[in-house]
Amino acid sequence: MPLSLDPAGAAALALQRLATTVRAGAAFTRARWTGGKSPLAVTFSLTNRCNFRCEYCDLPGQHRAELSAERWCEIIDELHGAGLGRASLIGGEPLLRADAGVVIAHLRRRGVHTAMNTNGWYVAERLDELQGLDLVNLTLDGPPAVHDAQRRAGSYQRVIEAMGLLRRRGVPVVTMTVVTPAGIDHVDHVLDVARDHGTLAWFQVEHDKAFDVDRPIAPGIAEERVRDLARHLLARKAAGWPVGNSRPVLEKQMRDGHRIGGTCAGCVAGRFMAYVLPDGTVAPCLLTQWQVTRGNGADHGVLRAFRDLAPPRGRGCGCVPYQELQAVLTLEPAAIFDALGLVVAGWRPRAPLPVA
Ligand code: SF4
Ligand code: SF4
Repeated sequence: MPLSLDPAGAAALALQRLATTVRAGAAFTRARWTGGKSPLAVTFSLTNRCNFRCEYCDLPGQHRAELSAERWCEIIDELHGAGLGRASLIGGEPLLRADAGVVIAHLRRRGVHTAMNTNGWYVAERLDELQGLDLVNLTLDGPPAVHDAQRRAGSYQRVIEAMGLLRRRGVPVVTMTVVTPAGIDHVDHVLDVARDHGTLAWFQVEHDKAFDVDRPIAPGIAEERVRDLARHLLARKAAGWPVGNSRPVLEKQMRDGHRIGGTCAGCVAGRFMAYVLPDGTVAPCLLTQWQVTRGNGADHGVLRAFRDLAPPRGRGCGCVPYQELQAVLTLEPAAIFDALGLVVAGWRPRAPLPVA
């Protein structure tokens, strides 16, 4: 497939990113000062289907209809007009959608900073589409014996290969480790891998496989061990290891344990973040999807469904990405510094996109 060097296209993209960033910033600022909402960061779950059956995840069993790529593009435009600045594409396994590249390309055209969470299995065969992303988040739970046992046989090797392939294309990569009782003593292995590959490693304590805020978080890991983990990661980060979690969030986890930062009241989810499920249902986050009317986005439009969301209820969670955004929006300098590093990495010039 030939490559196209296109300076005019690169300039247009840079301008679009600037316009999107200014629009998202203005919408957020207005919402913040007026007590309103803006869809600054939205997770788009393209499918609940998955080629894995990880021991801590029931998502593949939660059947939902799936929107077409064209419908996703319309939704993106609706939210972009209201201040969308950051998108996460997620599943299930989003690369089970043959048309995932259509959604990636659309987000890129709109100048939205776009990440994808993937188990890495299909990365080698979808590189051309993935090259349009600003960040790829690969799940890596520990050494092969731990990772493959709780995720899928052979998947550790695929993740390592995916990291190399993406890096060679200039696509920023990070890892997310779901910390389980079997994996908690192996976080240094993940940090070694991250250091060897020049990436950052995030760590997130496992949630209940049904993903419901009312369910216990990681009952197999005692509260004190969660605090010890945060303490350990803080020390590693201070020593220059590639720990992705920001210092303020790790410090909160060291204090709070499983559920970081208090209850759902006051969470950015539902106000500056949203989660759109495969059938167009809009929820504050995955763990509070059960509190909303199924199909609200399909029935009323995604933007209206977002604006109509009642504040989420619950005891809080340990979801690191939400805590990181919360820390950025409450102007924690160390969290802002870490987040800007990722944005800049995604927008750094890289090899031109393949064209047909
Ligand atoms: S954790 Fe991810 S890879 Fe594993 S079953 Fe769930 S959606 Fe699939
Ligand atoms: S604290 Fe926020 S992200 Fe966590 S479950 Fe509650 S609403 Fe969702």
